[in-house]
Amino acid sequence: MNIGAHVRGGGKLVPSLEAGVEIGATSIQVFVQSPRMWKPTQYAPEVLANYREAAAAHPSVTHTFAHATYLINLASSDDELYEKSVAALTHNLSVARGMGASGVVLHVGSHKGGGFDEALERVTTGLRRALDDATEAPAGVDCPILIENAAGAGGTVGRDLAEIEAIIGALEGDSRLGLCVDTQHLWASGVNYASIEGTVQVLEEIDSRVGLDRLRCLHLNDSKVDLGANRDRHANLGEGTIGVDGLAPLVGHPRVRDLPLLLEVPGEGDGPRASDVLDATRLWEAGVALYS
Ligand SMILES: [Zn+2]
Ligand SMILES: [Zn+2]
Repeated sequence: MNIGAHVRGGGKLVPSLEAGVEIGATSIQVFVQSPRMWKPTQYAPEVLANYREAAAAHPSVTHTFAHATYLINLASSDDELYEKSVAALTHNLSVARGMGASGVVLHVGSHKGGGFDEALERVTTGLRRALDDATEAPAGVDCPILIENAAGAGGTVGRDLAEIEAIIGALEGDSRLGLCVDTQHLWASGVNYASIEGTVQVLEEIDSRVGLDRLRCLHLNDSKVDLGANRDRHANLGEGTIGVDGLAPLVGHPRVRDLPLLLEVPGEGDGPRASDVLDATRLWEAGVALYS
């Protein structure tokens, strides 16, 4: 079992790790710059090395993930926005590699109605540029870009697995690309995995379209909106429309249960708390029991 959480350290890396330890998370996800501003945060190489040392000194936290800045839109047809997006993704990936992170989770962006096929080449070119241009990872660090499935609002790219398959396919299955499944987005995009059969079906689809080995982590969230509502609205576990019983089959599945499950729940407004980690632990146990 690996219950993780998105944590904030006031823009500082090691304090983020400590915030995760404090709530009992065994993986963490961080922003490496302000998520709603373009200005990149510059880290000296020593700061990144310090993070790797701090992570080694806190072995209870097994994985660190970086979440890319929300402003990034690799599907944009606006050249200026697109170039800023590629630069921000490259920077985020450089920092994550330097931290020894296990991946950069990315919302690809939105084509704003222009159509997925029109946007595909920009998206794949942007991904390739970031993967090639970011600072190299230290030896032994595997830090892919993890495409996050979208809830499906307003032309978002990655609203279904077929789009993610097309992106990875256009990059000839580049091994530096992976997948992060957000349970709330998946539900909002209309995939009902709230039964063992539903879970098996979606995992088979992931396997056939992108390969289950690319699935490196999940975002574990309940949903404030209904199945198929196409909106990105996270709820605390057990307080949403999926519920503990709906999440348990997916979380407990043998191919999912050992992955980092990263909470991005609101808590009381400040993000995941120790009690949310405990709720996730109980949910995990209930899920695993379904398969015994
Ligand atoms: Zn996300
Ligand atoms: Zn998410």
